[in-house]
Amino acid sequence: TNRTFTMIKPDAFGAGNAGAILKMIEESGFKLVAMKVTRLSAEAAGQFYAVHKERPFYGDLCAYMSSGPIIAAILEKENAVADFRTLIGATNPANAAEGTIRKIFAKSLEENAVHGSDSDENAAIEGSFFFSDLEKV
Ligand code: ATP
Repeated sequence: TNRTFTMIKPDAFGAGNAGAILKMIEESGFKLVAMKVTRLSAEAAGQFYAVHKERPFYGDLCAYMSSGPIIAAILEKENAVADFRTLIGATNPANAAEGTIRKIFAKSLEENAVHGSDSDENAAIEGSFFFSDLEKV
């Protein structure tokens, strides 16, 4: 088995969809390793998304990701990173497959409900951004 990292983003958390999204995640075979409700400052969002800092949407993305509470979680499953990307669907909900989390819950390309790590290496880095070694059991 291995791990991925997810966030339920401010749009989905604010709309009261966290429970429904977590239910889909658990029903798809992912185990919760660590989870918290938290909030990113604009600075912390900027650090988390530093890889995008030259992109035109970076400022908006940092403002959006710091606009309200989120859930951060580490998930465990065989083939976790790829299977979770399949479960959430395409970045733009307009292109997301039927039945995916983004198809059901995302509002737009930016306000797209959830994050999922894109590699094992980034899953570890992103999990460590939010959780201590003790919390990562
Ligand atoms: P995530 O990293 O959140 O799982 P992703 O890997 O599908 O998403 P990235 O290309 O890494 O997508 O973009 C990170 C986030 O930035 C997207 O999830 C979305 O919220 C936002 N974003 C991406 N492209 C755009 C864009 N063109 N305009 C506005 N926001 C965007």
